[in-house]
Amino acid sequence: MSKPPVLTPEQRRAALEKAKQFRQRRSVVKSDIKAQKLTVSQVIDLAQNDEAVAKMRVIELIESVPGVGKIRAQSLISKLDISPSRRIAGLGAHQRANIVKEFALPIDSSAHGRLVVLSGPGGVGKSSVAKALRLRDEFWVSVSATTRAPRINEKNGVDYFFYSDEEFDQAIKDGKFLEWASFAGARYGTPKQPVMSALAEGKNVLLEIDIDGAKQVKAHEPSALLVFLEPPTWEELVARLEGRGTDSEERRAARLALAQEELAQASYFDKSLVNDQVDAVVEHLIVLASS
Ligand code: 5GP
Repeated sequence: MSKPPVLTPEQRRAALEKAKQFRQRRSVVKSDIKAQKLTVSQVIDLAQNDEAVAKMRVIELIESVPGVGKIRAQSLISKLDISPSRRIAGLGAHQRANIVKEFALPIDSSAHGRLVVLSGPGGVGKSSVAKALRLRDEFWVSVSATTRAPRINEKNGVDYFFYSDEEFDQAIKDGKFLEWASFAGARYGTPKQPVMSALAEGKNVLLEIDIDGAKQVKAHEPSALLVFLEPPTWEELVARLEGRGTDSEERRAARLALAQEELAQASYFDKSLVNDQVDAVVEHLIVLASS
């Protein structure tokens, strides 16, 4: 191998600056792939005239595709017989054609969306996060079934499916729930079929459920990402639970006791987020789902 040229300080500065610009460009392209603004095939085309993209490693390209992730990217790249260190510019015509075929439109029809479970103590603000996520395209948010009575302003089919005890028993018998659990005297369950359909369509799915339910989901779907939502402080959680005018005093006391037990379970989760701002939590979940 020939010796690298000796660079003057100016040349070195210029080279470092160029490398930085290339990294920034690649990071924009990867975000666009994650946001489904660019397809794999479009990025491979871009590499013809864009040196920064041409130097992107193929594994980085594949990992950026929604629903793929690091582990699946490794198996795909070996299936496609491409070296993990290969850059887009170094792909042969045959390899290029195989990748494009693998990720044929829509972006990656074989990819499943990400299943994200948001849990944490009652009163921490999970439902506000879920509500905000319903307004975003990045997630499909599951609607649970429950045997508890609707609160004022809650609508059947929007906030929950309100079931009688008999209806809930029947749904359990028919295997209609992905998970179900009892919480503060009522039962709550996640309808399985809509979740599976959304995932199969490549959508990220959010379940906003209690901790018991989160553990059941992980047992069935080890790839699910369990996110624990923490209150900024215990005092704030108490204030929120006490201030809930929609619950009876007895129910509030039961929730407080439960919340204490629940807080101790954060370590079981893949990720903890502090709920000091709903918007920040929403953005964080969107990033987590695409990583
Ligand atoms: P709430 O009655 O305040 O709407 O909800 C009480 C608790 O039930 C919350 O912790 C909420 O996350 C949880 N929950 C809501 N839906 C489900 C579900 O489908 N399954 C489980 N396991 N918990 C749920």
